[in-house]
Amino acid sequence: MKALKSLNPYILKYKWRLLLGFFIIIAARVFAVISVDYVGNIITLVNDYLNEDSGNYQLLSKALLKNLSYILIAALISGFFTFLMRQMIIVVSRFIEADLKNDIYAHYQKLSLAFYKKNRTGDLMNRISEDVSKVRMYLGPAIMYCLTALVLFATVIPVMYRQAPSLTIYVLIPLPILSIAIYNLSRAIHKRSTVVQEYLSKLTTYTQEAFSGISVIKAYNLEYNTHRDFTALSIDSKNKNLNLVKVQAFFFPLMIALIGLSNLLVIYFGGKQLIEGQIKSIETVVEFIIYVNMLTWPVATVGWVTSIVQQADASQKRINEFLEEEPDITSSPDAIDIAIKGTIEFSNVSYTYEDTGIEALKDISFAIQAGETLAIIGKTGSGKSTILELITRLYDTGKGTIIIDKTPITKIRLETLRSNIGYVPQDPFLFSDTIKENIKFSLETASNEEVETYAKAAAVHSNIADFKDGYNTVLGERGITLSGGQKQRVSIARALIARPHILLLDDCLSAVDTETEEEILRNLNKLTKNTTTILVSHRISSAKHADKILILDQGKIIQQGTHNQLINKEGYYKDIFLEQLEEKEI
Ligand code: ADP
Ligand code: MG
Repeated sequence: MKALKSLNPYILKYKWRLLLGFFIIIAARVFAVISVDYVGNIITLVNDYLNEDSGNYQLLSKALLKNLSYILIAALISGFFTFLMRQMIIVVSRFIEADLKNDIYAHYQKLSLAFYKKNRTGDLMNRISEDVSKVRMYLGPAIMYCLTALVLFATVIPVMYRQAPSLTIYVLIPLPILSIAIYNLSRAIHKRSTVVQEYLSKLTTYTQEAFSGISVIKAYNLEYNTHRDFTALSIDSKNKNLNLVKVQAFFFPLMIALIGLSNLLVIYFGGKQLIEGQIKSIETVVEFIIYVNMLTWPVATVGWVTSIVQQADASQKRINEFLEEEPDITSSPDAIDIAIKGTIEFSNVSYTYEDTGIEALKDISFAIQAGETLAIIGKTGSGKSTILELITRLYDTGKGTIIIDKTPITKIRLETLRSNIGYVPQDPFLFSDTIKENIKFSLETASNEEVETYAKAAAVHSNIADFKDGYNTVLGERGITLSGGQKQRVSIARALIARPHILLLDDCLSAVDTETEEEILRNLNKLTKNTTTILVSHRISSAKHADKILILDQGKIIQQGTHNQLINKEGYYKDIFLEQLEEKEI
């Protein structure tokens, strides 16, 4: 159980509560055991009364009433403490569950993009939800039942042994068998419920995809086919469930059978020893029956808990795997805060994507001054986006250095670097929230006026104003879907609002018509006088006003210069310039 050791700091955090819980368990059990004594007393009283000829009935009923009220009081107190015990220990397990989830989430966020490329989203989600729940079962119920069992064994067995040593041994014999049987059963249940869980998630994924793609399904008349596949899947799922139910059905019969066996042993051996005079009174036999029944449930839980602990250990191992993953993009210990002005220099930068082994950039060198605009043009896959991702340090360069204002970017504090960059990714992502919140995303304190100003700059204000709820229109699943061009413009407004010193626009005007494109570029020109802008595009119209243009092909710079220099040279730029000029004329 090595993995579970990593939970110790969390347990220590709540040690006082747990310790208190432990004492409460002792109190609850002690009162439960005490009540058995009074049951014994009652048996003795009745027995004596029946054996005497001149018993006083009134005295007997008084004594009986007294003992009964003691039993009642002891039971009430024991019940109250049992309630408190659950409050203490189960509550702690909920606290630790929340702590653990927060810690995992915080750690996830520190991990680099490469980590997210390597691992599936479903896997990340499972570890933070399902695996944590498994671990909680260990922290809560498992610890609680284990302690209860221990306390009960420690209090009941000595009492039994003192009264009738050999009888104690006879009646305890079936209990370990019960424990082992429950353990095996729990494991079988766990195995089968894992399969059930898998099928459940298959079903969920299937339905989710089917409903997301409902327009395609309807357009191609695929309703029948998808229903057929769904039915097949749900029949499989049902069969797995039936398999599970079959083993689960054994649980209680098995317990009842073994408890019955123990009772049988008490009555048989107890009765025999009573007749032979080894036991002095019938009281002992009656008390033993109660003790044995008291012990069976904890004994069964020992088996159950063992299987829970194993599952929790496996889950914690999976959680630790991700927690032990070192974030590879961080601020180095000697990182500094600089006031970024926006000079950017690439010096012999190469980059290879780890997962695919594709060399996206080969020996790239260029420089731009603060406030200048650089356009990057090239075919898809030529490495344009990679350049921007390296500047934001979503990935770190393999070879070469990127220098911002004379400081290598790995020496600038990561938060400083990123808070100075406005980045519009090629495939902009908007959250299912209002348009306003999406624009304010990079500057939470922005006022409504600012939101509007930058939406106007991104030429999306009139679109937003046309929506019934304006800036409070909710996007995403619960709201409206923006067109590709509208999405791009909202994310431009989001990048602009924080007034970054470096603006990275990754092909973010591709879904916008040329007129709007020109409007946005004009606005950008006014707004970003002191902002270094890198604009990725495949339209000459976007690039021609830039201070410098880079042409990229297969990760290499094949041409660079200004628009006027480049159209006068034979090469890729001139070719597409003429091509796009023709298109415009048509
Ligand atoms: P562009 O933006 O010019 O279209 P990219 O910079 O996106 O080109 O990609 C350059 C090369 O790197 C392409 O061959 C692409 O397949 C590869 N690539 C891009 N992103 C990844 C990634 N996350 N993992 C692996 N390979 C990638
Ligand atoms: Mg790209």
